[in-house]
Parts: sequence; structure tokens; C-alpha cells
Amino acid sequence: MKLFRARVFTPVGDPFRTVAAETYLSFDDGYLAIEHGRIAGIGPWQEHPAGGTVVDLGRETLVAPGFFDTHLHAPQLEMIGSYGGHLLEWLNRYTFPTEAKFSDPKHAEAIAKAFIDELLRNGTLCALIFSTVHYEATDLFFAEAERRGFRAIIGKTMMDRNAPEPLLEDARTSYEQSRELLQRWHNRGLLRYAIAPRFAPTSTPELLERAGELKRQFPDAYVHTHISENAAEVEWVHELFPEAEYADVYDDYGLLGDRTVLAHGVHLTEEELDLLSRRGARIAHCPNSNLFLGSGLFRLHHVLESGVVVGLGTDIGAGTTPSMFTAMADAYKVQQVQGISLSPFELWYLATLGGARALSLENETGSLERGKSADFLVLDLHATPLISMRSERAANIEDLLAGLIFMGDDRVVRSAYIAGREVMSRS
Ligand SMILES: [Zn+2]
Repeated sequence: MKLFRARVFTPVGDPFRTVAAETYLSFDDGYLAIEHGRIAGIGPWQEHPAGGTVVDLGRETLVAPGFFDTHLHAPQLEMIGSYGGHLLEWLNRYTFPTEAKFSDPKHAEAIAKAFIDELLRNGTLCALIFSTVHYEATDLFFAEAERRGFRAIIGKTMMDRNAPEPLLEDARTSYEQSRELLQRWHNRGLLRYAIAPRFAPTSTPELLERAGELKRQFPDAYVHTHISENAAEVEWVHELFPEAEYADVYDDYGLLGDRTVLAHGVHLTEEELDLLSRRGARIAHCPNSNLFLGSGLFRLHHVLESGVVVGLGTDIGAGTTPSMFTAMADAYKVQQVQGISLSPFELWYLATLGGARALSLENETGSLERGKSADFLVLDLHATPLISMRSERAANIEDLLAGLIFMGDDRVVRSAYIAGREVMSRS
């Protein structure tokens, strides 16, 4: 057994539903006990179990659960910050040419390495990831995640219309390649597969039919796609599928369930929210991306009140950083301008245990609770002179978390553990 001694914080419940004080554990001088890759105990240091090796991290560090990024695109890492345009224009100008480069496995391999590096440096220990349409590139993303001990849900993008020729496939090939990758990687170690039609506009009814067929054959596989990100996109879906609302398009092909994660959902109607809630589908809220592309302001409380589970995502490359600190800070700002102030506990929940719930992984990870996988971060409360100054004056855990949310970045993440194994260390 290993005993980590530090400040310790973890959400254990949903602060949107319960009194905040009952939804987290916090110890100024605490311990986290790890055995066989699992959490064997957590509490104040004076109650630590006897025996085991002590790793004293000092009170200048905070041990906290790893972050969950519930929506991003691995191939778009290199195009972060590409300037200008709203969603549809941006896809054509930057995204499609960038993704076309992944027909070259060497390029895919290099980006896969850089991608996992960046996520770990930023404290993201689990992510739901879009690859490209390329079979081999997707295989390489999985292989790299496995090599690094990273917890990931990945899917080959499925796309058979309204994109440049080199990125288009026929529905049958898309189905067959997705199926092969799913059979190879789904439930292998920490990896899971997501059936991933990009979004309705790049899908023919036949492609969605094939995606639905795959979901029927492998009911515990995930479905990962986009919905109602941008007003022009919603209009376009109405032209392409005149019979239905956007959410109905996915529902008609059996693609909505509790393992479905839909990115954005900024412009959903009441009827659509009701449908998503009844199906148990989840939404990945990506505030940084929504601001960058000018997509709109997500109505978080309205969506939560409709019964839909929400996680936070960066949506790289439309998001401008892989940092979940920024995702939390931007989620705060998106609600601020709508007159609602999210608490540090609510924000931290969305980035950790809430993300795990959005990905149906909350029984395995997402918080520091006995029996769960030992997935955690060691955060440096004095990473920079300014962060140090801010941490020093924090009166309580809420204030300390607030400082980290608004000022934190990759420099704060000193080391990271997944299933008890150190997967990143700055020293
Ligand atoms: Zn996206």
C-alpha cells in the first residue's frame, strides 16, 4: 500500500442537486491510500491506516481527481487557434484539410503522441475522442492511448457526404471499418469504442442506418456526435432532413441512449431536450469552443433541469486549449453573462465526477472514493509566483479551488496517476 500525504479534495456528489457541503470531501492535511491500482482509503492524515509506504507531498500540493474531457478531436491538435469564421466555414477552411493529412500514418503517429502528451500535461486522465475517417489513424490513436496507460473512448469519424472527396467513404466501408476497430479495441483495458458519425449534415440516411446497426450489435458501445452547435447548422439539418427536428434524426436511427454523448446542444428546443432526457443521452458542453466560434450561450441550468446529464469538453481544435482549468473558467463566464454564478464546487464537479457520469464511468473513476480506480492529480499550489500568492491567501477550500480554476494551467499539474500508475511527472 502507498499513502500519499497532501491537501486532498474530491467531489463525491452532485452540487447541482444537493447542498454543496455534502457533495465533497476536503482535508487540509489528508491521505490517499492506494493499493493494487485502487483507492484503499481517504481521510485526514491523523486517521491514516498503519503500514504502507508514505509519499509526503507537503501541504503545498493538492491531490484531486483527474479531469474528464467529454468532447475533443485528436487530429485537430495542430490547428488550435486557426483564425476566423463560424462553424461551417471553419470546417471547410481548416478542419477538413487538417484531417485529410491523417491518410499518412506517420503524421497520425506523431500527432497521437503529442496529443496524449498534452492531455496528461493538463491533467486530463480520461477523454471522449473523435479520430478522423481513417482506419489506420484511428488504430494508431488507440495504440498510443494503450501504450501510455490512458483512459479513452475513441471512434473513427463516419462521413459520406458534404465534405471534400478524400475524406468521404461509402456507408458500407464506414460500417465495416468501424466494426473492425470496435471489435479490436472496445473494452480492452481502459479503452472503449464510440460509434462516431461526425454530425447529421455529413451523414446520408444510409450512413446513419449503418451506425444504428452497429449500435444494435454492440449495445454497450458509445455513440459520439454533434448536435445544435450553430444556428446555420440547425437550418441546414432541417433542409437535409425536413421531416424531423435535429435530435429526431439521431433517434430515428437508434442512436440516442445513455451511452450517447452529443457535443454542444446550444440551440436545442424543449421537445428535443425532453427526447434526450427520456433516452438518457448526454451533452458535452464546450464553452471555450462556443465562444471561439461564436456558436452561442449554453443554458446549463435549463438543460440540467430537463434531466439531461452534462459533462465539460474542450472541443479541440475549436477550443483553444486542452486545459480543463480553462474549460471550467469559460463555463463560469458563459453562465455569468446569463446572470448565473456557478460555484467552484459545481465547476470542479463538472470537470471530474460530472464528466465521469456523462461517460457512464462514475462507478469506476471520477472521484477519490474507496474502491475506485486510483486516477488522480498532484497539483502544485505554488506553480507560479502569482498562483502561489493567490493560494497563500485562500481562506478555505472553495476559495483555493476558485483561484486554480481562473488562474490554473498545465504548470499547476505536477504529476498524474491512472490506475495507481504514474503516467506524467514534471520532475
Ligand atoms: Zn467537436
